[in-house]
Amino acid sequence: MNAADSHTRIVDAFSAYLEDELAPEEKASLEHHLSACIQCRTSLERFRRTLGGLGRLRQSAAPNSFLAAIQQQIHRRSRGRFFRRRWLLFGRIPFEWLSLAMIVAMLVYYLVMLQSSPTGVKPIP
Ligand SMILES: [Zn+2]
Repeated sequence: MNAADSHTRIVDAFSAYLEDELAPEEKASLEHHLSACIQCRTSLERFRRTLGGLGRLRQSAAPNSFLAAIQQQIHRRSRGRFFRRRWLLFGRIPFEWLSLAMIVAMLVYYLVMLQSSPTGVKPIP
């Protein structure tokens, strides 16, 4: 009788439990009951499945990492395609850095030319 009573109490609390609206002690006692009672666990599973749409809505942050995981998987499986990854890396470099690198390269080239050319052309007075 007492047990049956707690069953209904547990089932009544499912909604609040899944919404995470239970007080910590209520939650603890519910989880304690669930760990011991397969009947309530089964009902909770069914209840959760019924609310599946809601649950999916709440996990709306997941798709991004899901997509990334799939891309990584594809990347790993097709070894010939790491060009794609390089492009991604390249795309992340800001354009300012690219032009700065270009300027530095030109400066270095200029300095090297400046230092090496006098040896051949240096006029002896
Ligand atoms: Zn139960």
